[in-house]
Amino acid sequence: MEERILSSENLEQDEDINLRPQRLEEYIGQTDLKENFKIFITAAKQRNEALDHVLLYGPPGLGKTTLSYILAHEMGTNIKTASGPTIEKGGDLAAILSQLEPGDILFIDEIHRLSKAVEEILYPAMEDYCLDIVIGKESGVRSIRLDLPPFTLVGATTRAGDLSAPLRDRFGIVSQLEYYEQSDLEKIVWRTSKVMETEIVPEAVHEIALRSRGTPRIANRLFRRVRDFAQVMNNGVISEDIAKMALDRLKVDHLGLDDVDHKYLRGIIERFNGGPVGLEAIASSIGEEALTLEDVYEPYLLQIGFINRTPRGRVVSAKAYRHLKITFNEGLFD
Ligand code: ADP
Repeated sequence: MEERILSSENLEQDEDINLRPQRLEEYIGQTDLKENFKIFITAAKQRNEALDHVLLYGPPGLGKTTLSYILAHEMGTNIKTASGPTIEKGGDLAAILSQLEPGDILFIDEIHRLSKAVEEILYPAMEDYCLDIVIGKESGVRSIRLDLPPFTLVGATTRAGDLSAPLRDRFGIVSQLEYYEQSDLEKIVWRTSKVMETEIVPEAVHEIALRSRGTPRIANRLFRRVRDFAQVMNNGVISEDIAKMALDRLKVDHLGLDDVDHKYLRGIIERFNGGPVGLEAIASSIGEEALTLEDVYEPYLLQIGFINRTPRGRVVSAKAYRHLKITFNEGLFD
């Protein structure tokens, strides 16, 4: 089976619990966000209140879930987790909310995928810490209001734009996670090598970080695969040669682009003259899901300036042509 280094899935087996930093101090990068959270946490603790509701947004694998666990840890409370698509009915959410203890964090991943009915239960819960439940049938219908303990909702999403305005407005803290810089990714790879007790040279750390497209989850995945090669071929030591060879074998290029990125860019160039072309058209022409392309692949291609989004669709940039070593006809595509 072809293994994908990129994935929209939060693959549990891939997420080594030991790799998750436990405290804000250990959370690498995202400096501004960390500094702000230090203040918010200290202030909430001084007032003996729950932390305000938090919305974290950004591409997959940047550390939204990790940060939520850290918030619980720093606040000294428990965290309960759920995911937008799995909370199907209002009753599902009511059941989760009614189990919360004072100060608990409720983490809802993919919060943009909550249904309208479920969202409406969330509004009074977030605003007034209460739950309106409708009981009885037909003529005997009535609504009762249950109090909830003060709690913190942490919502995570890859697409803040898909959140309804009333829901977005109810978050007191809205934070965007950024792609990580090379130096931070290197720190993450060093940390991972220590947790996994693997010997690695600085050049190999550099190479893995370089190809992990600004994303800690990918850095850790690449590290694991490179470690396999090192174990079988080099007595477990990750040398520069082993790292480069393994990464090439995994078909991750020096910018961290994989097969799908290449297929996507070449697809637009070869079949649509470099664009502009709509997402659906590209997706069906290369046999990938539009949602995956939009959530997982495009954000990074946009970030490194390989594509632009225009009102008429996606356009591949001259920079991407150079990377793919395809001649760029400026007159035609600029
Ligand atoms: P998201 O919820 O945004 O998809 P995760 O929180 O699941 O991302 O992060 C993926 C993995 O990357 C985590 O298991 C963790 O090991 C690692 N990671 C993420 N952010 C950091 C960070 N700031 N420092 C160290 N490791 C991190």
